[in-house]
Amino acid sequence: MLKNILHSTTIFLVFFFCSSVASDNWQTWYEAHNKNSTPRYDETIAFSKRLADASPMLHYTSFGQSHQLRDLPLLILDKDGHFTPEAAHEAGKVVLMVMAAIHPGEPVGKDAGLELLRDIVIHGEHEDLLENVTLLFIPIFNVDGHERFGPYNRINQNGPEKMGWRTNAINLNLNRDFLKADTKEMQHFIQLWDHWQPDFFIDTHSTNGADYQYTMTYMLEIFGNMEENLSDWCENEFLPFWEKRMKEDGYPVFSYVTYRRWHDPRSGLQTRVAPPALSTGYATQRNRPGLLLETHMLKPYHKRVESTYLTLVHTMEFLNRENYSLKTLVAAADEKTASTMFRSLPFPLDFEATDDSVMVDFKGVEYRIKESSLSGGDWFIYDSDKPITYEIPWFKKQEVTAQVMLPEAYIIPVQWTEAIETLALHGIIMHRLEEDVRLQVESYRFEDVSLSQSVNEGRQTASFQTVPVQETRNFPAGSALIPMNQESARIIAHALEPQAPSSFAYWGFFNSVFQRTEYFESYVMEEMAREMIKEDPSLEKRLEIKLQQDADFASNPRAILNWFYEQTPYVDQKHNVYPVGRIMDPDLMERLTGQ
Ligand SMILES: [Zn+2]
Repeated sequence: MLKNILHSTTIFLVFFFCSSVASDNWQTWYEAHNKNSTPRYDETIAFSKRLADASPMLHYTSFGQSHQLRDLPLLILDKDGHFTPEAAHEAGKVVLMVMAAIHPGEPVGKDAGLELLRDIVIHGEHEDLLENVTLLFIPIFNVDGHERFGPYNRINQNGPEKMGWRTNAINLNLNRDFLKADTKEMQHFIQLWDHWQPDFFIDTHSTNGADYQYTMTYMLEIFGNMEENLSDWCENEFLPFWEKRMKEDGYPVFSYVTYRRWHDPRSGLQTRVAPPALSTGYATQRNRPGLLLETHMLKPYHKRVESTYLTLVHTMEFLNRENYSLKTLVAAADEKTASTMFRSLPFPLDFEATDDSVMVDFKGVEYRIKESSLSGGDWFIYDSDKPITYEIPWFKKQEVTAQVMLPEAYIIPVQWTEAIETLALHGIIMHRLEEDVRLQVESYRFEDVSLSQSVNEGRQTASFQTVPVQETRNFPAGSALIPMNQESARIIAHALEPQAPSSFAYWGFFNSVFQRTEYFESYVMEEMAREMIKEDPSLEKRLEIKLQQDADFASNPRAILNWFYEQTPYVDQKHNVYPVGRIMDPDLMERLTGQ
């Protein structure tokens, strides 16, 4: 009897001990593995669900499935249980969206975010930051690439021991896919964005590039490509606060820059404006601050994670305090973008750094250049133990290299389904024509067209010059009329203005218009050309001039006949013509939409 009691007590104690260890063990995988290892997908999901089960403040859900049918995880943190966008926005909360592992070889955001959520919901730390902030955390965005897991996925990088792969299961880089949305992951993300309308966005990475002292560099649009009041807020409110806090924590930050001459600090620093194919460029064109974090590949993994963790905390600190000011600015920017006034000024599409610079102190490291006996090239040897502050020029001032006057509406003929459906995915408001219409529109003719020789994100991209044209065109029933008096007008313009850096035309949505599909027989053209000269003798004189001026032309019989062909009515009127129309007349737009 006594023995039995002892035995059952032992069992009870063993059971009690095990269960208490299990429930108290809230170490993340990363913490439990020397801070140099990152959890696989299954472990990440299991830990996320465990956290959510343990706290009424945290909700686990999925916002769709990847190409390989993995769930795309989302954690929603709100101390009042506002787990819908309606509830969170109505309560005046700033919705902060944090994305991790869009490049799974750079999983800092996942490990920092899981640690932070654990500290908040289990240890009760930082809870005060949730008064006015709702956090949406995507621990792994590129879930399929994440499971292409191994030690050899990032040749330059200092940890973690194993990691995922940059691209997704169909070898596309999700951080080029924000506007064209070719991948299932991005399509689900865009719907998530549209549903939640986050107020502030953070995308977490580790970067390659020359060595320097900073563990973290960042990009936040303050260079002229964002609504100006929001841009001011980023530059003069958010950045000074966050930069100061990071410096106090021992992690001074610097803007994400490249050297003007590859690897060479003395050549100076330059900044590029992010186009909307990239995460933070997309956020910017949606009138939301988008903070890109780039921790440096050579810094130890735990430092990269810690600096990311601290950035999340300090961002929440600031947003918790400034929720009202940010939400007011975001709402005003949305309203302004939809206004008539927005269409009365030129809209910048593309930028380039100018030769105008400011001198800055940049915390670099000593380096020397050796001529390589192996490759014959310059071998940059950085000495990370020898920090040095360079006073060098920073070329951050941007000039606009392409801009347009925005129309009242765009009209896309019904047959260009990819363009229409992709815009619909972005939540763009559009009207479908109920009957065929004939309209006066502005559009473009493409010249100097060339297509990329190598594949670019699975596509053949196009480069060209655009010449504006005014034409009367037929638009069949079902064509999409896209009014510009909407909050997403910047996204629409970036998609539909061909010269924009991430435009649908650039990505090859309209490549078929570059193909000529009817040809003349030379013997037919020989006769027809003679007839044409008979009817219009001036042709002969013009041909003479052309022959004298252009030797290549003069020695190419086919080109000479083609010159005549191009002056016949048989020439294809739609070859190299942009099918999308720009409607400039507000009355016409109103008539078409019945508004
Ligand atoms: Zn990256």
